[in-house]
Amino acid sequence: MEPMAIGVFASVGSGLGASLEAVRRLDVSTVQLGAPRTEQGRSDAPVLKRQFADAKITVTCIFCGFDGSSYETLECVERTVGLVPAATRADRLQQTFAMSDFADALQCAAIGMHLGVLPPDPGSQEYEEVVEATRAVCDHCARNGQRFHLETGQETAQELLGFIQRVERANLAVNFDPANMILYDKGDPIEAVGLLGPLIKSVHCKDATRRRRPEQKWYEDCPLGDGDVGMKQFLEALVSVGYRGPLTIEREYSPDQEKDLAGAVAYLQRLRSEVLAQL
Ligand code: MG
Repeated sequence: MEPMAIGVFASVGSGLGASLEAVRRLDVSTVQLGAPRTEQGRSDAPVLKRQFADAKITVTCIFCGFDGSSYETLECVERTVGLVPAATRADRLQQTFAMSDFADALQCAAIGMHLGVLPPDPGSQEYEEVVEATRAVCDHCARNGQRFHLETGQETAQELLGFIQRVERANLAVNFDPANMILYDKGDPIEAVGLLGPLIKSVHCKDATRRRRPEQKWYEDCPLGDGDVGMKQFLEALVSVGYRGPLTIEREYSPDQEKDLAGAVAYLQRLRSEVLAQL
């Protein structure tokens, strides 16, 4: 794969990503793919593997999400997202293992996830249980020769770093989403790149504004380059910590997703050339 290969977040079936057809039209060389949530969907791995190979598209990370997750309010996120909620954890762990096996069938070396909102007290039993669950995912992924990438944003970079150090697994890494840090108000994304440095193994190129329109949902992102991330500074910061992995465009709540994605690909191609030319 070329350095900082451009890609998009894609999904087959449900989810917010672009379809395989849309990805083909965008002419990008990589995707992150939302994991199918059913056994039936995951059984399509051999077909998907062939389709992506035929399209000369590398699947760089399989993203795990679960039915029953809601991002409607921050309270909903706390209650329903990832492996943090205790009531759904055991079932979701089994699903995660199956998604890791699906990734393996696609010869993809990483899975990613919004782990959920970490319990505030690292000394609490709840926190320790999330550490244990994360170790279980890492150990399953290790048997498949994979890394496990935690999406940024629901905590500060310092808190995420503390959590990763506590888990103590060499295959635990970071999927860095700079827009989430703005949306959840968890610090400056450019500084956070410096802090997490070599742990960053994949990224979402997504943008967001600190200032919200009246009635705007808290999670609503914006076209790449129109927000407050500072995409060029973001790419420069990534390069400065040695990152050369894929740049995956994620556009979640757009009235015209495909048009926005096409604009984002062109914009990112230009920035990428400028940043790589400085090396
Ligand atoms: Mg993201």
